[in-house]
Amino acid sequence: MAKADYYEILGVSREAEEREIKKAYKRLAMKFHPDRNPGNAEAEAKFKEIKEAYEILTDAQKRAAYDQYGHAAFEQGGGGGGAGGADFSDIFGDVFGDIFGGSRRQRASRGSDLRYNMELSLEEAVRGVTREIRIPTLEECDICHGSGARPGTSAATCPTCHGAGQVQMRQGFFAVQQACPTCHGKGKIIKDPCTKCHGHGRVEKSKTLSVKIPAGVDTGDRIRLAGEGEAGEQGASAGDLYVQVQVRKHPIFEREENNLYCEVPINFAMAALGGEIEVPTLDGRVKLKVPAETQTGKLFRMRGKGVKSVRGGSQGDLLCRVVVETPVKLNEKQKQLLRELEESFGGPSGDQNSPRSKSFLDGVKKFFDDLTR
Ligand SMILES: [Zn+2]
Ligand SMILES: [Zn+2]
Repeated sequence: MAKADYYEILGVSREAEEREIKKAYKRLAMKFHPDRNPGNAEAEAKFKEIKEAYEILTDAQKRAAYDQYGHAAFEQGGGGGGAGGADFSDIFGDVFGDIFGGSRRQRASRGSDLRYNMELSLEEAVRGVTREIRIPTLEECDICHGSGARPGTSAATCPTCHGAGQVQMRQGFFAVQQACPTCHGKGKIIKDPCTKCHGHGRVEKSKTLSVKIPAGVDTGDRIRLAGEGEAGEQGASAGDLYVQVQVRKHPIFEREENNLYCEVPINFAMAALGGEIEVPTLDGRVKLKVPAETQTGKLFRMRGKGVKSVRGGSQGDLLCRVVVETPVKLNEKQKQLLRELEESFGGPSGDQNSPRSKSFLDGVKKFFDDLTR
């Protein structure tokens, strides 16, 4: 099916200013918003279309691309992750907050979204894990199946607003829309409420959910479980559950993007002479060759031993920083050996043994020479 033109969808000219586009969007989105058209798939599709057009045309870069190439501009790779996934709740924050205000809530409304904070170990975050969680939530009442009315009875259409939920009041020249005072905006009246949920259609419960955390998540990632939030009022759709990931600090590894960092101490004899050490990776120990004359702080990169991000891409690396450790608790014999070593540094070859000290001292000398000039 060929896609309709974004300008036509919003009913604006190709020269329309952003303000005009926003206005058109508000008007159309109010009309087709799923909260106003519960269960109407056609309205929902229309709403998605409107939202997509709005998102493209209010982004200067995307609009320019669209003007030049049409829909082809966004066909590769799903359009840069924006227009595709229609998340209805997010727009209320910006454009809609002011329009719907409190009145939106008074309709038989979609259940609230819930957030669950989940702490994971680094290993769990890297490999993925399935966790059982218990969450307190509102669920559809099993006696009235969400209608709020006692079984065998049903909710009656409100006689005041005839089911619209809103009434028009005249104030001088103005006609003002207000929530219906009889049904408080719900459009229905329950004469004989369900005894279990007292007409709300929902009851408090805690439920256990099995949550599959994909491999490669990191702190700040959110996993959306559609429809696992609170049940809606009187049969309206349920909200979503967002699992917010927090990765605990690991005793050895630190993650930065897809790379892992760790510090490995080596003694200074090994640093000078070279050798082999064992370093930890998330998949077990591996051997690392330390070349002779390794300085403290040197980073060794082990390709592919890092993390593969949940968002795809290539696997990161493990970066091991070797730290030369000063020996402690030396016995007399060891101290004697070190003194002999130190004396040998003082000889004519001393500069050669410590290239960094030499260049540092040269730098210091030049610094003071320049000062006294
Ligand atoms: Zn009930
Ligand atoms: Zn009413």
